[in-house]
Amino acid sequence: MKNKLPVIYTEDFLRHLTSPHHPESPKRLEAILDVLKRGELGNLLEIVPPEPASFDWLTQIHDPYYIIRLEEYCLRGRSHICGTDNEICYDSFEVAKLAAGAVIKAVDLAEKGVQVIFCPVRPPGHHAERALAMGFCLFNNVAIGANYWQKSYQKRILILDWDAHHGNGIQNAFYANDQVFYISIHENPRLSFPGTGYAEERGEGPGEGYTLNIPLPLDSGDVAYIEVFEDLIDSAVKSFQPEGIIIAAGFDAHRDDDMSFMNLTTAGFAEMTEFVRYWSESFKAPVISVLEGGYELESLTASVETHLKVLLGLD
Ligand SMILES: [Zn+2]
Repeated sequence: MKNKLPVIYTEDFLRHLTSPHHPESPKRLEAILDVLKRGELGNLLEIVPPEPASFDWLTQIHDPYYIIRLEEYCLRGRSHICGTDNEICYDSFEVAKLAAGAVIKAVDLAEKGVQVIFCPVRPPGHHAERALAMGFCLFNNVAIGANYWQKSYQKRILILDWDAHHGNGIQNAFYANDQVFYISIHENPRLSFPGTGYAEERGEGPGEGYTLNIPLPLDSGDVAYIEVFEDLIDSAVKSFQPEGIIIAAGFDAHRDDDMSFMNLTTAGFAEMTEFVRYWSESFKAPVISVLEGGYELESLTASVETHLKVLLGLD
């Protein structure tokens, strides 16, 4: 797979249907795949289908009763779970297991020597809690994959979450864990969903210091983001020395995306990605980029394509 970009994807991801005006729509993945296939990366893509995450790996991050309830709700034809934001359809349970399984598949490829892997999955995951769907998220794809990576291969895993919103579910999954370092940069929680992610939230017990939250004011823009990478994140990553990196890659901090007011540009995502590529090379740590938010299709697709080019060193 050298010089190839494995993309863990199946059209089954499109079977998680939401109502017509819901921002988290199948069109997001259709647009991403379309742009990637037609662009410069087109002949590097290697589409690899995922397998559903097993009940065992799901229950390491989620309460078994929540998993069963989600399945029941889907099969009974309910329209949402744990609040109207989290829409579901008959197929959503199966699709959510595939989204989590995609990250597990990516971990296995990384451990076979692949340096960069992309998981354009839906439903997204970083808000999903142990027993709660939240913020369009059903299963916590990144947390399930990071836990699998850490436990199956005994590796120290860095999760970098640059979605505009704090990944409360990932944070809580690893809050007392010193083998998984969660770094999130997001919109001021006083003004933004889900209302967590203050700098004082730093982990607990053995995990103290292994959660790093960097809330930023509205309208921060590229410069403020890059300053934070230079001043805070870079040194934190260097002292952790990750053996694997997962990006909770949300693109809703883009200035054209009305889900936040962070005012990032596509170039800003490229600059943040440069740091990840540098760490990946320095520590020989494979990078798995997992899609989270990002709802305005033009900025989403442009940012994803640029992000992947930078990760592959093709910029
Ligand atoms: Zn978001």
